[in-house]
Amino acid sequence: MGTISTQYNVGDTVYIVVDVRAETAVACPICSSTGKVTLSGQEFQCPACGGQKTRGAKTRSAVAATVLQIQVSKCEERCQVLYTMQHSSGRASLPEVAVFATEAAAIASMGG
Ligand SMILES: [Zn+2]
Repeated sequence: MGTISTQYNVGDTVYIVVDVRAETAVACPICSSTGKVTLSGQEFQCPACGGQKTRGAKTRSAVAATVLQIQVSKCEERCQVLYTMQHSSGRASLPEVAVFATEAAAIASMGG
């Protein structure tokens, strides 16, 4: 068995892109943030926001994370390296291609 080299090590600080809930929730435009819609005199739970009164206001953001665990699998042709990381909003498991050494690189990966 050869030695598998990974780009990052346990304990390293890396940058990843995560979906984070926006601090200010966006009001639901369908129900005017009442959570209900009225159709033919009958009241229904708003289908757009599911009665939550706000739309899923999520944004993609680059965050710093600490590598907790590294799993390597399928090494016949190309190793797949999966990192489990702790970041400020929780944990994430991502392949090496989605893990970055710098915040700028993580932001760049999001595209325009
Ligand atoms: Zn709604």
